Amino acid sequence: MRVFTFGKGQAEGDGSMVVTLGGKGAGLAAMSAMGVPVPPGFTVPPMGPEVIPQSAEALPDELVLEIDRGLAHIEAVTGFELGNPERPLPVSVRSGASVSMPGMMDTVLNVGMTEAVAAGLGQKPEQRRFAVDSHRRFLEMFSEVACGLDPGHLEDVRDEVLDLSGIEDVHQLEIEWIEALVAAYQRTLAEHGAAPPADARAQMDAALLGVYRSWNNPRAVRYREANGISADCGTAVTVQAMVFGNRGPASATGVAFTRDPNTGAPAIFGEYLPQAQGEDVVSGSYTPLALNGTPESLAVKAPALYAELEALGRTLERELGDVQDLEFTIDSGTLWMLQTRPAKRSARASVRTAVDMVAEGLIERPEAIRRIEAEHITRLLHPCVDVHTRRRVLARGLPASPGAVSGIAVFDPKEAVDRAAAGERVILVRVETSAEDMEAIRASIGVLTSRGGMTSHAALVARGLGRCAVTGCADIVVNERRGRFRLRAGNQVIDAGTWLTLDGSTGEVILGEVATSPAAPPPAYAHLMTWVDETRSLRVRANADNAEAVAQGFEYGADANGLVRTEHMFLEEARLSLVRELVLAPTMRARRGALERLLPVQREAFRELFDVGGPGVAAFRLLDLSLHNLMPTVDDDLRALAARFEVPFEQLAVRVRSFRAKNPALGHRGCRLGLTFPELYEVQVRALFEAALDTDHQGGIEILLPMVTSPVEVKRLRRRIEQMASRIAAEREAVVPTWRLGVMIESPRACLMAGALAREADFFVFGTNDLTMGTFCMQQDDAARYLPFYLEHRVLEADPFAEMDEGSVGELISLAVSRGRAERPDLVCGLTGAHSGNPRTVAWCHANGIDFVAVAPHLVPIARHAAAKAALEES
Ligand code: PEP
Ligand code: MG
Repeated sequence: MRVFTFGKGQAEGDGSMVVTLGGKGAGLAAMSAMGVPVPPGFTVPPMGPEVIPQSAEALPDELVLEIDRGLAHIEAVTGFELGNPERPLPVSVRSGASVSMPGMMDTVLNVGMTEAVAAGLGQKPEQRRFAVDSHRRFLEMFSEVACGLDPGHLEDVRDEVLDLSGIEDVHQLEIEWIEALVAAYQRTLAEHGAAPPADARAQMDAALLGVYRSWNNPRAVRYREANGISADCGTAVTVQAMVFGNRGPASATGVAFTRDPNTGAPAIFGEYLPQAQGEDVVSGSYTPLALNGTPESLAVKAPALYAELEALGRTLERELGDVQDLEFTIDSGTLWMLQTRPAKRSARASVRTAVDMVAEGLIERPEAIRRIEAEHITRLLHPCVDVHTRRRVLARGLPASPGAVSGIAVFDPKEAVDRAAAGERVILVRVETSAEDMEAIRASIGVLTSRGGMTSHAALVARGLGRCAVTGCADIVVNERRGRFRLRAGNQVIDAGTWLTLDGSTGEVILGEVATSPAAPPPAYAHLMTWVDETRSLRVRANADNAEAVAQGFEYGADANGLVRTEHMFLEEARLSLVRELVLAPTMRARRGALERLLPVQREAFRELFDVGGPGVAAFRLLDLSLHNLMPTVDDDLRALAARFEVPFEQLAVRVRSFRAKNPALGHRGCRLGLTFPELYEVQVRALFEAALDTDHQGGIEILLPMVTSPVEVKRLRRRIEQMASRIAAEREAVVPTWRLGVMIESPRACLMAGALAREADFFVFGTNDLTMGTFCMQQDDAARYLPFYLEHRVLEADPFAEMDEGSVGELISLAVSRGRAERPDLVCGLTGAHSGNPRTVAWCHANGIDFVAVAPHLVPIARHAAAKAALEES
């Protein structure tokens, strides 16, 4: 058991000892060792309840001896003595945990303020007011923290004295009134058995115990629970010689950031309050003055002190390598630093300061990359709900399409279109969306669904249209018919017409209209991303199926256009019905008719992608539609189709029923479609090669087969594609572009068969959505019925559809990569699915031999950055 002293250019601890000294103690040790003026003191490391029980009334003997040593150090450095009225040494007793918990624990200032010391401090007439004011503050803080007295008792006394004096603010009281207040405080404290000990050392020990206990005050407990901080570590306590910001006109206290925490601009930023103590600045009861930029500022009023503060800020940044958040006090014209810690800052300031600090030689590029978080990038590139805004979060879903919007909840698609046409801002709320909801999504500013993942219809369409979307929000139960949703927890009901705000970057569903911040990447962002690209080895592709999304992917820095999910080209009812007709066509003639209508539509869709995508390689995945989902759901549609085919309604209805699947995800889908409806893939392949020739595409083409489970599927479909390529080359008398055939590995069987698949396929792409469903035997769309229970009761640690389960899905992928590469050492392996833009999964991919991730366009910058961080982690 020991304490760590600091002051006068020395320190027993150092800045790295955050666990032992707490953030505050470590910062003070660091500052002291580098010669920054800090009042001398010592830090007592955190101690668990086995050393100091919650109910302890005295400190352990061993610790008392160490505290004696620490106190002797302060007395030696200052030449003052605790409790000595002639040479008084008041001390501060301050909390400071290893994890920042700002303002949650307690501090007692002016400890050692016995009657005699207060009198001694105020011997000189000009010090009288300061002495009695310090005594008042001591009684307030000590009684609450050390004695556990409800502060309301002293507040009542203070209000009475203020009423009598006719003054509103205690700082404006005449000295006699403050003396009267102190006397009244002492009477009240005596009545409640909370009078401070008459002995200064006993005061200090009691304050130490009180500050230790404040680790468990209700405020601190709530804060730890809300922020996932362990309750085990406890707080360190620092005892330090007092310096007084309230000693007179040449004294002040303040807080300063070494750079602007909002913009990152490289100038001191902060506030100060003349004739005050620390808690006055943070309490919010007084309006502090700016440090610079106004006539009242420190820079104008005390330029020499301001210059000293600036210089100290520069020293601290140079030594500690980061922007600092400082607390300082000016005691009779002398500047003292009381705290330094890395500054919390906005996304904008994070990027700007990281890049600026590289230019200034304070940090290296890798460190700049490490300092940025995915959330910073999101905040810069998309409008978000303002971090400082008070908000009532009703529910959380998947952050499916970024942006932040406020509008009224509307549950009926037609009503959404009408109200939007009338000029209202509409958020469409549905269980899930389908092709029929396109118009309503287009008319709305945001979409909220209770079901469906990051690649659900709502997510895809919203992203494609640039609408904000939160999907798979299992916290709510939507009743479309009644036009309302209920919160699973608490049962609150939200009716149509209620104002909501969606944050598509965090997945938050917020009650009411709240402030948002716009997208505005600073110039430094581009710099940082250049370094990111120089650092990473993992390639990043954008999954885009229409021209705008492809363009967006490249704008966001994608290396190539990743997965073109061709079924997404058929999200609109009109196009989808072309595929439906082909599958349901009862005669060869009807089938030919359907093919003739489908070909130009598909070819045009591919042409657009080639036009925007340029010569880069693009990967086209052939249709992965479940026939179950493709079938008409409304009798009217079926009747119209029967009429078109000139067959009886019943006959068509029977055929439609034959496509019904017990479990569509395991049904008639993926490349099974290509084998059982050969025309479907043939028309796609024809459209693809013809579009490439029409646009004079110069790059290669990758064709991907979805949901492959057998090498025979690949072998047969490759033969068909080869035949189609030769046929088109002959028809057009042209050379078709070179193409490679990849397989989507999306089932446990495909992973296990990877060796055989590698003999047939040119490359692999893992699809973690289907692979997660197959591995867990969970259907994502209805997992909301039991997953929340599993998460709440820790049966599972994380939602496997949000966090890739490395122990199972990850193991299967690793196995497949190694089996595949055993056959074909240069086998290229990519990974896509809802997990692929998650920084943790990106890091996993880097570490596990994956060559590229393919992500939604808006996640490209996050994946690039995560890939760079992963590369740095390795080196
Ligand atoms: C997957 O299953 O992970 C995948 C990429 O395919 P999709 O999401 O289109 O089913
Ligand atoms: Mg899939």
